[in-house]
Amino acid sequence: MESAEIRRRWLSFFEERGHTVVPSASLIADDPTLLLVPAGMVPFKPYFLGEVKPPAPRATSVQKCVRTPDIEEVGKTTRHGTFFQMCGNFSFGDYFKEGAITYAWELLTTPVADGGYGLEPEKLWITVYLDDDEAERIWRDKIGVPAERIQRLGKKDNFWSMGVPGPCGPCSEINYDRGPEFGVEGGPAVNDERYVEIWNLVFMQYERGAGEDKENFPILGDLPSKNIDTGLGLERLAMILQGVQNMYETDTLRVVMDKATELTGVRYGAEHGSDVSLRVVADHIRTSAMLIGDGVTPGNEGRGYVLRRIMRRAIRNMRLLGATEPVVAELIDVVIRTMGEQYPELETDRGRIETVALAEEAAFLKALKGGTNILDTAVTETKAAGGRVLDGDKAFLLHDTWGFPIDLTLEMAAEQGLSVDEDGFRRLMKEQRDRAKADARAKKSGHADLSAYRAVADAGGSTEFTGYTSTEGEST
Ligand code: ATP
Ligand code: MG
Ligand code: MG
Ligand code: MG
Repeated sequence: MESAEIRRRWLSFFEERGHTVVPSASLIADDPTLLLVPAGMVPFKPYFLGEVKPPAPRATSVQKCVRTPDIEEVGKTTRHGTFFQMCGNFSFGDYFKEGAITYAWELLTTPVADGGYGLEPEKLWITVYLDDDEAERIWRDKIGVPAERIQRLGKKDNFWSMGVPGPCGPCSEINYDRGPEFGVEGGPAVNDERYVEIWNLVFMQYERGAGEDKENFPILGDLPSKNIDTGLGLERLAMILQGVQNMYETDTLRVVMDKATELTGVRYGAEHGSDVSLRVVADHIRTSAMLIGDGVTPGNEGRGYVLRRIMRRAIRNMRLLGATEPVVAELIDVVIRTMGEQYPELETDRGRIETVALAEEAAFLKALKGGTNILDTAVTETKAAGGRVLDGDKAFLLHDTWGFPIDLTLEMAAEQGLSVDEDGFRRLMKEQRDRAKADARAKKSGHADLSAYRAVADAGGSTEFTGYTSTEGEST
C-alpha cells in the first residue's frame, strides 16, 4: 500500500466516524515552548488545556513532524527519521480510552479490501502504563487480545508528555511483531526493533509542569476534561505494509536513496556504513526540503541551526559516499516530486526552496575546504603535544567562522582519533550569545548594559548548551 493510500484511508476512516479533517500545520510551531512541531497534537494543545473551546469535539490530521533529538538514530535503527508524518485522531472531552482503543483496533485489523490496513491480529502486541488496569481490561476483555500479548511499561515509554509543560497522560501503544529475523522474542518490553511501535494512544488527562527529567516531572493537576490524542507513524506503517526492512526503503524515501546511489555509484546493500549514510542522506534531504518549504532558512541559531545541521550532515554523508560535485539540486528535486503529491506547496515554492538549498550547499562546500584546513592543523598540533582532546576554542572557531555544526567537528575529529572538549565549546557559545544579547540591549538603550557583561564574567563552569534543542521537546 502506497503512503498516499495509507494517508487517504486514515483520514476517511476517522471522517466517517465524525472527526473533522484538519490539514497539517506548518513545522514552525505556533507555540513559544517549541522550535518545531514534534507531534500531531501540537496544533490542538489549547483545546486540551481548556484555553480555547474546540470548534468540534473530534478531529483527525496527518501532521508533518520533525524530531531533532532522534538525529543520531537515523539510519541506525530501522524506524527513526528526523522528519516523519504522524497520523492522529483527537477527542476533546468526547470519547476516551474505550473509544480510542476500539477505533485503533478496527482500522488496523479490518481487511484491506474493506478499507482497513489488514494487519494480522496475532502480530499486534499492546503496552499499557504500569497502573492502567482499565486500559488493560479493555484490550483483553473487549477487544480480545490475549493477556500474554499485553505488557506494562513505566513512565519512560507509557506516560506521554512533550517534554515541556502542557497536557500529558498515560498511554497505550500498539506494536507490530516483524518476526524472528529482527531478533529475540518477548514483546516490545524486550525488543523494540522486532516489535516495532506503530501507534501511540495517549489518554490525555493531566497537566504537567516544567522539569527536565523524563521520568520524574511534576503533575499540576487534572485537565478540564479527559481527552484522546493518538499518533501513528505513517512511515512505520508503510514499512510494514510495503514489506520492507526499514522506513528509508518505503516509497517516498527509497527514491531519494536511489538518486544518491546514482550520484555516487555506491550500491545500497553493499556495506553497513554506506547503507547508513544513504539512509541519512534520504532522511536529511527530505527534512531539509520540508523545513525550507515551511520558511526556515539556514543560520546559526534556533530553527535555522536545526536546518543547517541537518543539511550539512546530508551533504557530508554524500561526500563520504564519494560525491565530489554539488548534489543537492538533484536530491531535492526528487523530494519535491514525491512529497509534492501530498504537499502541493512544495511544487509551488520549488524556486525558492531550490535557491535556499543550493546557496547553503555552496556555502558549506566552501566552508568544508577552509574548515578542514583549520581542523587538520589543530589535530596535528594537538597530537604533537601529546593530547587526545581538541580544544573547545577550536570547535568554536570552526562553528563561528565556517559554520561547522558541533557534530561535524566531533565526527571529523573522531576520524583522526581525537575527541573534542564539548563543554568548552558550549561555554564559548553561551558567552557569544550573551554578548549578542547585551549588544542588542545596549543598542536599544543607547549605552552598554554592564550587568550583562558582569553576568558573562561571572559565568561559572556549569553553563548549558542551548543552541538548538533548548526549546524543543523530546518525546518518548
Ligand atoms: P520510539 O519509542 O520508537 O522512539 P516514540 O515513543 O518516541 O517512538 P511517540 O512519541 O509515541 O513515539 O509518537 C507516536 C508515533 O509516531 C510512534 O508510535 C511512531 O509510530 C511515530 N514516530 C515517533 N518518532 C518517530 C520518528 N523519529 N520517525 C518516524 N516515526 C516516528
Ligand atoms: Mg510512543
Ligand atoms: Mg516509544
Ligand atoms: Mg522516540
